[in-house]
Amino acid sequence: MTELERKQDRAPIPSGWEYATAPESREIVQLRERYGHFVGGEWLEPKESYATIDPASEEPLAEIGQATDEEVGLAVSAAREAFENGWSALPGSERAKYLFRIARVLQERSREFAVLESLNGGKPIRESRDVDLPLAAAHFFYYAGWADKLEYAFPNRKPQPLGVAGQIIPWNFPLLMLAWKIAPALAAGNTVVLKPAETTPLSALLFCDVLRQAELPPGVVNIVTGDGRAGAALVKAEVDKVAFTGSTDVGKAIQRELAGTGKKLTLELGGKAANVIFDDAALDQAVEGIINGIYFNQGHVCCAGSRLLVQESIYEPVISKLKRRLQTLRVGDPLDKNTDVGAINSRAQLEKIEELVRSGEEEGAEIYQPPCRLPEKGYWFVPTVFTNVAQSYRIAQEEIFGPVLSVLTFRTPDEAVEKANNTPYGLSAGVWTEKGSRILSMAQKLRAGVIWANTYNRFDPSSPFGGYKESGFGREGGRHGLEPYLKFE
Ligand code: NAD
Repeated sequence: MTELERKQDRAPIPSGWEYATAPESREIVQLRERYGHFVGGEWLEPKESYATIDPASEEPLAEIGQATDEEVGLAVSAAREAFENGWSALPGSERAKYLFRIARVLQERSREFAVLESLNGGKPIRESRDVDLPLAAAHFFYYAGWADKLEYAFPNRKPQPLGVAGQIIPWNFPLLMLAWKIAPALAAGNTVVLKPAETTPLSALLFCDVLRQAELPPGVVNIVTGDGRAGAALVKAEVDKVAFTGSTDVGKAIQRELAGTGKKLTLELGGKAANVIFDDAALDQAVEGIINGIYFNQGHVCCAGSRLLVQESIYEPVISKLKRRLQTLRVGDPLDKNTDVGAINSRAQLEKIEELVRSGEEEGAEIYQPPCRLPEKGYWFVPTVFTNVAQSYRIAQEEIFGPVLSVLTFRTPDEAVEKANNTPYGLSAGVWTEKGSRILSMAQKLRAGVIWANTYNRFDPSSPFGGYKESGFGREGGRHGLEPYLKFE
């Protein structure tokens, strides 16, 4: 670090650079008072219901169905009927047309979906508008392209659809996770029953309108809502495949449940990724990568770079740049276009973050939080950095799933690899260095499904995503993402 850089880093953040509020209007979203389950192309009146809320204001948004075993069974029967009565026999080029239509309608209605996603999930509109929506549409476009090319994707293997896929998704990227699940399943000729997370069902329910607009045959996609009980019912139902994205504990329980049943299973579970910064890295870019790695989507990201590994010789400048950058993050209204960090998704998640942060302080780590005024109502957490973290601390071991970074140091590349791999998870990692050979050598040694070099949290439908160890098995995205939805003669 030069003397000039040091001075720049210590200079106070100019106070004249306050942004005026720039709220996105929520008028574009028309919510119903109550939603049922979407079964066989119709709305099924639910027997039980609960309220879904806006986590930024705690205001109720709508009444949502809590699916019973019987309602889940009806959805699975509708999917079975649609599979047998036409969808599986439809030529791939015809299936592709529906997927292309869905992709185009999503693009046309992207502003409406982006507002709804931020309203129900708490994520900044900047992210739902620029990341979730474009990527969700891109997934449908991408898999539409594969639907009539399965024989070329798997030459000499005669790919066949499995039947009905039961799909369960979490709340951190509600529409994007739906796209990751539904697009490859339909491209491969399966039908679907999908259950969104209990706190964020609204974009999946609005997606039913898109299915109708695209004139998808009834029963090809069915949506049932509710909490883990509805998920458990779907796992037990007469489905041919279960695709689950969520926590490692629930993933393990599902794996136990399905053992010996012959149902296919893919699990996309938690993570505790290392973001490794070498002393030759471009530091300002690396600091942006650290910020994007852990504060994107409030840290509610399975592949978040939640463990920062900094080479000892650059520890001081990295931490001072990081703290300075943290002071510029704007926390608040998810619908404000200037917001960087939105609301925590639920009270339960906020309590989990608070508990783990307390444990970090009690175990002896040093906490840093920038000055920050939080809204009075809603669920919020100040972006946080822990230094002086030992590998054994809970904040270095457990997935926090919030805007909390744990910083560790290393001296040699071997030590970086050893520390990065010292986790039960293996979903993702980041490497920052100017040396190409070091990137390749680290990528070979890091035990993680996705490794980013000189960037972080980049996604593309053509690129497979998934984990090792307790982060699960199976891949989503790319040609690999078709395979879990196919059987081969
Ligand atoms: P969760 O496991 O509590 O819930 C996920 C989904 O499973 C929800 O729809 C929930 O209703 C359902 N569910 C809960 N109990 C169930 C049961 N017994 N049987 C069947 N379904 C059940 O997880 P969460 O807190 O909603 O999500 C956060 C977790 O998801 C984090 O651990 C995160 O890392 C992980 N995640 C992983 C990926 C990935 O691709 N690897 C992506 C996003 C999130």
